[in-house]
Amino acid sequence: MNCALCGGARGMADVYCVNCGEYFKKETNLVDERMRPLSTKEYVVMMLLACIPIVNIIVLIMDGMNDKQNLNRRNYAKASLIVIGASLAITVLIMVSFVGIIFSMYS
Ligand SMILES: [Zn+2]
Repeated sequence: MNCALCGGARGMADVYCVNCGEYFKKETNLVDERMRPLSTKEYVVMMLLACIPIVNIIVLIMDGMNDKQNLNRRNYAKASLIVIGASLAITVLIMVSFVGIIFSMYS
């Protein structure tokens, strides 16, 4: 990673740029936010949000696409979207085959 101000090399643990003295604290916090484990309360809120139709899809897509989002939340969002997509595909498949069975009975 490099200093945003002067472009000099920086270590992950550096708080100040050794080259120009730029303060890194904000960016260091951003890295911590991505890597920090989610609390029980955050998981409860996430699961309750997943129960609200339409809102859940929007929140999951936004969380899943956001690079700055917490990694746990991001992976959870992606996994949920995969499960939702798979169950939707299976539902459509079952409905189509039922319609097929009903049509074949009357023809
Ligand atoms: Zn610098």
